Amino acid sequence: MRTIGIIGGGQLGRMLAMAAARLNFRTIILEPQSDCPAAQVANDQVVAAYDDEAGLAALAQACDVITYEFENVPVSAAEFLARSKPVYPPPKALEVAQDRVTEKRFIQDCGIETARFHAIDDQAGLEAALTDFGGRGVLKTRRLGYDGKGQKVFRGPQDLPAGAFNELGGVPMILESFIAFEREVSIIAARAIDGTVSCFDPAENIHRNGILHTSTVPAALGAHTAETARRAAKALLDALGYVGVIGVEFFVLPDGSLVANEIAPRVHNSGHWTEAACVVSQFEQHIRAITGLPLSNGARHSDCVMQNLIGDDINDVPAWLARPHALVHLYGKTEARPGRKMGHVTWLA
Ligand code: AMP
Repeated sequence: MRTIGIIGGGQLGRMLAMAAARLNFRTIILEPQSDCPAAQVANDQVVAAYDDEAGLAALAQACDVITYEFENVPVSAAEFLARSKPVYPPPKALEVAQDRVTEKRFIQDCGIETARFHAIDDQAGLEAALTDFGGRGVLKTRRLGYDGKGQKVFRGPQDLPAGAFNELGGVPMILESFIAFEREVSIIAARAIDGTVSCFDPAENIHRNGILHTSTVPAALGAHTAETARRAAKALLDALGYVGVIGVEFFVLPDGSLVANEIAPRVHNSGHWTEAACVVSQFEQHIRAITGLPLSNGARHSDCVMQNLIGDDINDVPAWLARPHALVHLYGKTEARPGRKMGHVTWLA
């Protein structure tokens, strides 16, 4: 086992490649954009579309194991690769995570609470579903939504304009019941090839404009709630026959109970804090899992806050560097567009 293929060239692939290098693994990135954040720190890049069979075959040929850094990798591409090399996490995890309706059903089948929901295929279906939820709900595209994109919140019956279905593109959607949560938390967990599961401590997440702003650890959760999050993560990992790191997002209700929102079959933004506050980061944990090495127990040595550096926040880097106990991590992106994740900083309490 020497070379790891990573599909996707963003910052998550970059941090996976850096963690892999520390354990003497080589990495090859498959990504259509050359000089992408991941390829800047990897050994090689296959410049090809994610569904380009010639590119995928070249990657499989050169690697011992293949992973991915985003959940919209075409399932057909992962299945194509899996015919010749191990692909971790398993393609089934992509299939579940790519469609919010499939995902919610799967989570419920694992015995985990989710928001109530209706699959929506037209304006009439939307109106019926909203009526069922008393006019309140969150409408999301079933596929290809991220960072709050492709979403609309209905706060009451007055919010339903005649063209609401078409406003979001007229594509298949899901209407979720509106969850009056007290806070949002996530847990990063890993499963090894032999089925061992290890969890990091839950993080409390604050979003701004639909994008993660900060993750704080420890989250303000009772021991029972934290244990429920761990058990839920383990149930999901076992049901998927999963190998690698997963992120699971939850809403916390005022009574401390948890409602799962979504799963991310990859390393997760709300786990970046682990590189500063744990001996082994989520990135190394993922590399260990997919290469058959022992997992870390996820122990945390410090309390911390991770903050994303979005767009012009990149200008604050000199100030962050001057701050004691702050670890700055930048992604090698040259252009700071609004809403673009340029880096993050984690400071220890
Ligand atoms: P998502 O793309 O599913 O992660 O949603 C983005 C953000 O929208 C979440 O982090 C929540 O803050 C909010 N949100 C999503 N779904 C719901 C819901 N069913 N009820 C209330 N807020 C939600």
